Amino acid sequence: MRKKQKYTIATLGSHSALQILKGAKDEGFKTLLVTTEDRADFYSSFVFINDVRIIKSFKEFPIFEKKLKTKHIILIPHGSFVAYLGVEGNKKISIPYFGNKQVLDWEADRSKQREWLKESDINIPHEFRSADEIHTYPVIVKSYGAAGGKGYFYARNKQDFLKKMKKFVSRRFVIQEYIIGVTMFFHYFYSPLTKKIELMSIDRRYETNVDSLGRIPLLGQKDLHINPSYVVVGNAPLTIRESLLPKVYMMGQRIVDTSKNLINKKGLYGPFCLETVITPDQNIYAIEISCRIVAGTNLFIEGSPYTWLTYDEPMSTGKRIAREIKMAITKKKLNILLD
Ligand code: ATP
Repeated sequence: MRKKQKYTIATLGSHSALQILKGAKDEGFKTLLVTTEDRADFYSSFVFINDVRIIKSFKEFPIFEKKLKTKHIILIPHGSFVAYLGVEGNKKISIPYFGNKQVLDWEADRSKQREWLKESDINIPHEFRSADEIHTYPVIVKSYGAAGGKGYFYARNKQDFLKKMKKFVSRRFVIQEYIIGVTMFFHYFYSPLTKKIELMSIDRRYETNVDSLGRIPLLGQKDLHINPSYVVVGNAPLTIRESLLPKVYMMGQRIVDTSKNLINKKGLYGPFCLETVITPDQNIYAIEISCRIVAGTNLFIEGSPYTWLTYDEPMSTGKRIAREIKMAITKKKLNILLD
């Protein structure tokens, strides 16, 4: 018989809430979901969610959280937390929060992220300070605060860049070398209890229209003036050739090690994702790091080929989070995981 936990695992109703709460239930926790009225019936239809609470908008969570009086709630953040509450809003959350909130500052600031990746000895695309530095390479221009690939544009060269800039509204942006290769997003989990890195799964985003361009021959595209767009609409599972696997594993390890020096002693723990592009010479370039559960892990509610090797049972990232919390409760080390 599965041992019942006195704690309730809670999250906001979007992004990867189903995965998180299913995993929590499977590990013996009670589950609570906070969501908006229009989504309440949908989430209530899942038997593994014990309690659905309605909120006017996610932005009101800071007021609402005071109502969640019980001391035994643990909140699991996901991608919607920063999107709706901002970094400062997350820091102000008073319910025990799974993850190191200091990491949020390093994730949100593009230059800090680059410093962290560089220190971790991970390849990153070159960044240009001005149009004058752009020569023969294609570039991608990314606005600050973008999510899901929205508000990006591709420019073939300097002239193309200057032309497209005339219509670009964002004031804060970066100009980055466009890496020609395939995208692979690596999902890791670092356990401060076992002190081990685990590669949970790999996905790629399905982005429109950039992922459709190869379906029309160049001749057919001619004169259409199609601009690639990177808006993500789905995710697909991947495995990587095994000879690259040790390299990927060590990249995750270095990210965690460096975070303990750069950020604070606790560093980065729990789930995180390195978003990469891999070139024909098998160099792996990181374009971003996400320091929480990412939506691409939703593909792996039953686990991935990699978690199967480690666990011999279905293990999603959501369930792995709950397992870590359960282990910490048993070892009386819950404070290590919560902020
Ligand atoms: P998130 O939702 O993770 O915050 P985002 O909007 O910050 O996403 P990125 O993940 O940085 O976006 O990039 C979106 C897409 O743009 C990537 O999946 C990739 O296809 C493309 N891309 C970004 N940077 C580069 C690059 N330097 N070279 C080639 N392609 C890139």
